[in-house]
Amino acid sequence: MNALQVKRSLINSGVDKLYHVNTVVTSLSFINQGGLLSRQTAEIMGVPQTPQSSDDIDREFGIYNDIFFDSVDIHDRAKRPNDYGPVMFVYSVDVLDTLTEYDICITRDNPIYWEDGMQDNEKYFSSEQEILFGFSKGDFNKHITVRNISVPLPFNYLEEIVIDDPGMEHIELLNKAKESIESSLNIIGIRVPVNVRKCSLNCSCLSKYTTSNPGYAYHRFKTQL
Ligand SMILES: [Zn+2]
Repeated sequence: MNALQVKRSLINSGVDKLYHVNTVVTSLSFINQGGLLSRQTAEIMGVPQTPQSSDDIDREFGIYNDIFFDSVDIHDRAKRPNDYGPVMFVYSVDVLDTLTEYDICITRDNPIYWEDGMQDNEKYFSSEQEILFGFSKGDFNKHITVRNISVPLPFNYLEEIVIDDPGMEHIELLNKAKESIESSLNIIGIRVPVNVRKCSLNCSCLSKYTTSNPGYAYHRFKTQL
């Protein structure tokens, strides 16, 4: 679908921000290259990116060169760390104004549930009408995707970066990650706040970060592969 149709549909559904979540390593590559990168583009550029369990499925379904957004802050909504990492890029939905040359899609379901032989209209909404009836803000499995994008998606409409708080036990990991992100933003001249996430008491993230194997926090917060 065209970017402006998708933007109108999202606004009608109450979505005014788009969220992309990743590890610190991959996020630093994005910043150093001046924008979000599809998995394939990062691979071709040879910049560091953390392997994700979805990579094989993405290759199989031809979506490895797409950039994925959520319509909601999944960590906040699900009260648990996002599976993709501790760093969240928060864009205004107006970023879609800059993407009119791309096919923009909304998945009907998470691609991990797609099956071989499914047609595009089974994988994605195909009209504003379908989105109006089938999409609601906050459904984790309905991703907004920018199809086949082989250049960095710039930070022009980036409003904020939010990084998880893994607790006192991992304060050094957090500080190093935050400083690396801020310093990379400085180098490319992007002024955007980098905030540490403040969770409600009923969020399970602190317990996940402190009771898991120490490798869990390290893998997500380390600054180099
Ligand atoms: Zn939390």
